[in-house]
Amino acid sequence: MMNQQLLQVLLVEDSPADVKFIGKLLERGSICPCQLVVVETLGEAIETVARRSFDAILLDLNLPDSYGLETLRQANDIAGEIPIVVLTGLDDETTAIAALREGAQDYLVKGNFQAEWLLRAVRYAIERKQTLIRLQTTEAALKQQLAREQLLGSIAERIHRSLDLCEILQTTVDEVRMVLHCDRVLVQHCTPDGGTTVLVESRSSNCTSTLGWRIGNPPIFALRDPEGSIVDLTVFDVWPEQLCQTFAVKAKLVIPVWINDRRLEDTPSQTVLWGFLVAHHCRESRQWHPTEIDLLEQIAKQLAIGIQQIQLYQTLESTNRELQLLASLDGLTQVANRRHFDTILEREWRRCARGKLPLSLILCDVDFFKRFNDCYGHLAGDECLQKVAETISCVVNRASDVVARYGGEEFAVILPETDARAALYLAKAICDRIVSLQIPHVRSSVCPVVTLSAGVGTQIPQPRVQPASLIATADVALYEAKAGGRNCARSSQTLKHKMR
Ligand code: GH3
Ligand code: MG
Ligand code: MG
Repeated sequence: MMNQQLLQVLLVEDSPADVKFIGKLLERGSICPCQLVVVETLGEAIETVARRSFDAILLDLNLPDSYGLETLRQANDIAGEIPIVVLTGLDDETTAIAALREGAQDYLVKGNFQAEWLLRAVRYAIERKQTLIRLQTTEAALKQQLAREQLLGSIAERIHRSLDLCEILQTTVDEVRMVLHCDRVLVQHCTPDGGTTVLVESRSSNCTSTLGWRIGNPPIFALRDPEGSIVDLTVFDVWPEQLCQTFAVKAKLVIPVWINDRRLEDTPSQTVLWGFLVAHHCRESRQWHPTEIDLLEQIAKQLAIGIQQIQLYQTLESTNRELQLLASLDGLTQVANRRHFDTILEREWRRCARGKLPLSLILCDVDFFKRFNDCYGHLAGDECLQKVAETISCVVNRASDVVARYGGEEFAVILPETDARAALYLAKAICDRIVSLQIPHVRSSVCPVVTLSAGVGTQIPQPRVQPASLIATADVALYEAKAGGRNCARSSQTLKHKMR
C-alpha cells in the first residue's frame, strides 16, 4: 500500500485557511504523492470512512459538531485500522498529548510545520499503526493457540480420569464448539450395519438438532484390505452435500476416530473406525485453519484413548463379575457354595437385626443318601444332588432367598424377613417336591423314592448373638425331623407339633 500508490488521506478540518495550507503542503510534498479528501465535520468524516478506505486521517479536534478529545474518541471508533494524526492549534498542545494517550498516532501543531514534516508524520503514523496491528494479530493468534492447548490439556485430563463415556463426549463437544466458535459439534458412532449414529451434540440455539440421527447410507466402510482393515477412508463422505443442505451446514470438518480394539481375546488387536468428531459452521462458509484441523485431530486421538480405556475397563469388570460368580457357586449343583452361604447369612443377620425382622433358615438333608450311593453309584448320586438343588431353588422364589449347598448332601435355604410359620410351610413344600421327583431309592427305609428331611430355625437376630445360633436351632430341628421318621420338616419353634 505505502510507497507504491497514492496515499489516501482524509482531512477533517473546518477552517478553510488550514485546508488550503495543508492542501498546498501536500501538493508540494515530494516524499510521497497524496490524494486528499477534505470534510468539514465529524459527521461527514464518519460517513466518508464508511464508504471508502483511507491510509490515514488528519483530524482537527475542534469541529462544528464535535469538540476536543471526544472528537478523537468518536473518530477512533470508526477508524479501525486507519491511523489518526491529530491537528491542533498552537495553544492546545496539552490536549494533543492527551490525544496520543487515547490512540492518536501523532499530532501536528498548525502553522508550525512544513511539507516534509507533514508527510513524514503521515507515513510514520501509517507504519506505527501497521506494526501495532501486526502485534495485535500475533497476540490474538498466541492467545488462540494457548486456548487450544489448554482445551486439549483439559480434555486429555478429563478423559484419563473419567470412565463415563457420555460425560467425556458431551463435555468435549461443548468445549470444542466454544473454542472453534462454530455452530455445531457432534460425535458419530459407527454401527455394525456400516452406518453411524449421532451420540452427542453441542449446537447453537438456532441450529436444528442432529442428535440420534442415523447417517451413512451407502455403508461407510467402503474400502477394506483382505484382512478386513480399512485401507482408504477418503472414498466416502460422511456428510454428503444433500445432508449438509438438510442441516444448513455451510462448512464442515470431519475427523475420524480410530481405536485399537483389544476386546476379542483370540484375535490380535485391530485398528477399527469407531466414529467421527464433526464440526459444523452454519452462519456462513468457512475456511478451516490448519491449526483448527490439527486441534480436532489431537482431540480425536485423545477420545480414542479414552474409549479404549473404557472398553478395557468394561471387559475387566465383566470378567471380574464372572469370576466372582464362579467363586460363589458350588461346582456340582450351581447353587451358592458354603463360603457364599456364610457371607450372605452374616449380611442378612445384620440387616434383619437392624430392622428387627425375623430371619429363617432351612437345613435339608437327603435321607439315606449313603445307601443311595452304594446302590446306584456315585455318579447317580451326583445327578440326584443336582436335581435336589434345582428343585429346592424352584420352591423358593423371592429375590432375597438364597439356596446353598451346605455340605455333602445337605442344603441350606436362607429366608430373610420370613417368620417360622412361612418357613415351615416352605420346608414342607420342599419335602413334597422332592418326593414328586420320584427318583427311585429302593434301599431307603422310609419310601421307595428319594426323600429329604428339613429343619427350620427362625430368630429375630440380636446384634450381640452370632448367626451360628440360628444354624444350631435349625440343626436341632433337622435332627428332630430325622428322629421323627425322616421325609418331614420340623421347626425349632413348633417342635412339639408333628407336621406330617
Ligand atoms: P441320613 O438319612 O441319616 O442323612 O443318612 P445318610 O446316609 O444320608 O447320611 P450320611 O451322613 O451317613 O451319608 C451321607 C452320604 O452322602 C455320604 C456321602 O458318600 C454322600 N455324599 C456326600 N457328598 C456327596 C457328593 O458330592 N456326591 C455324592 N454322590 N455323594 C455324596
Ligand atoms: Mg448328612
Ligand atoms: Mg443324609
